[in-house]
Amino acid sequence: MNINSQQVLVVGSGVGGLSTAIILAGLGYNVTVLEKNRQAGGMLRSYTRSGMDCETGVHYLGSLDKGQVLRKFFDYLGVSDSIPVSRMGQDGVVDRYLFNCSSSHPFQFDLPAGFNAYEQSLKKAFPAEEKIIEKIVLSLRRTADQLHGLDHLYAEDNDFSLLDQADSYGDILDKSGCSPGLRSVLAIPSSWIGVPISDCPIYYHHMALASYLSSSWRLEQSGADMADVLTERLKELGGKIITDAEVNRIKVHSRVVEGVGLRSGECLAGSLVIAAVHPQQVLTMLPEGAVKPSYRNRITKIKNTHSIFSVHVRLDSSAHPEVPHNIFQVRTDAQGNIEDLSYYQFRKGRNENSTLLSILTSGSNELWAGWKDTQTGRRGEEYLLAKNRHALKLVKEAEKLFGSLKGLELLDVSTPLTIRDWVNSPDGSAYGVLRSSVQTLSTALLNRTAVQGLYLAGQSVLAPGVIGTIMGSFSTVKLILGAEVFRRKIRL
Ligand SMILES: Cc1cc2nc3c(=O)[nH]c(=O)nc-3n(C[C@H](O)[C@H](O)[C@H](O)COP(=O)(O)OP(=O)(O)OC[C@H]3O[C@@H](n4cnc5c(N)ncnc54)[C@H](O)[C@@H]3O)c2cc1C
Repeated sequence: MNINSQQVLVVGSGVGGLSTAIILAGLGYNVTVLEKNRQAGGMLRSYTRSGMDCETGVHYLGSLDKGQVLRKFFDYLGVSDSIPVSRMGQDGVVDRYLFNCSSSHPFQFDLPAGFNAYEQSLKKAFPAEEKIIEKIVLSLRRTADQLHGLDHLYAEDNDFSLLDQADSYGDILDKSGCSPGLRSVLAIPSSWIGVPISDCPIYYHHMALASYLSSSWRLEQSGADMADVLTERLKELGGKIITDAEVNRIKVHSRVVEGVGLRSGECLAGSLVIAAVHPQQVLTMLPEGAVKPSYRNRITKIKNTHSIFSVHVRLDSSAHPEVPHNIFQVRTDAQGNIEDLSYYQFRKGRNENSTLLSILTSGSNELWAGWKDTQTGRRGEEYLLAKNRHALKLVKEAEKLFGSLKGLELLDVSTPLTIRDWVNSPDGSAYGVLRSSVQTLSTALLNRTAVQGLYLAGQSVLAPGVIGTIMGSFSTVKLILGAEVFRRKIRL
């Protein structure tokens, strides 16, 4: 079929949906993105409170130097020049980890920029483990080469290459005789993708860590600006985006996709449908019998990553200037596994007198269980009081670390229910399906379905985060085009 006559419908306008749509529009497909919300962007979309940009799902990005993976993606999508970023780690620190004080764990570890600096910092903190550290850093460098070289995308056999590196990193560290202290430092990157180190496949752990060690960046503008840049780029390439358009049916006849139905009752025809939403949500859109019961069963049983509770507060910038690195407070058990983690970011506000402090912690889903059958904006006074109470508790914990917070104004608080309702993520799961060693097989090749013309994209198909999600978009396009045509047409 002629590409130009093929109507492609992309469900969801997060970074997964938008990047897939841009790639296909650039190849000449006729693409329309359907987004349930009033604005495009999904978890990219920040929002403004009292003139401050509160981020939702982008706090920092890795690998944007020339020749590195995200820069290659942004260049291909045609957005590198329109997404201004500033390099982190100029002061020697990208992330500061503050551990609970116990004899076997370091109190503080600073993750620097670059592999050499990381190796040195690890050796300084754990002088008795030099040999183990050398092996760890060598293996990280190898992953960085694979990542920036896009080995996985250009491999003959789609996606299976990752199965070779599916062993749990926790098990590998146990076998190497690694100390609990070193393990706790290495456990943090797997928490960035929502997986405990004891169950995190080595590839995903290394991909997350290597991408930030390669280079780390903050957006100079907001996540909403990034969403707008991607949307504009899609339009420039002739693509369309329709907002306020919730898809509730994927139309399938004889295992061939025919289009989608919207909640409004309208139907749109399409010979290619790409659902850039959670795979469990896709199941609810498919008619009975469209996929085999074994597929339905596999997808239904997949476990998802946890959710996140976020607090944004305004502070006086004279007392609390921007901090150019991230801060993590971490509680670990005696083996070096993470029990609890809080993330802090101090960013310059748009007005000179203000600094934005963002606090992210685990979702504490049990606290919001009583409101699970309610919708955003209609949960009532009790809910508002409960979430503000929890937010103030976290602010008090922050004060133990940073001292009394001056000029404090609570701007916004979001719970797992907020994420759930904003992007339709099951229970507010932050990073989609859990990329654990135990689920390696059940979560492999999630962008492929048995319905002809129906593909999946988004963070759940390959890996979460902006890099993982866009990598998933390219891998979905590779499935659509076939490996050989992909290699010929898409030069990254
Ligand atoms: C708190 C938090 C912090 C994070 N921080 C970072 C970070 O610092 N760096 C990083 O790289 N990654 C980070 N991530 C991860 C990153 O945000 C995600 O991996 C990525 O944004 C996921 O993109 P997506 O397109 O898969 O999904 P989403 O952004 O969830 O997009 C899905 C879209 O589909 C729409 N949709 C859903 N159902 C329907 C329907 N039925 N019809 C029409 N539209 C529909 C939704 O409204 C949404 O717009 C963070 C995530 C969270 C939760």
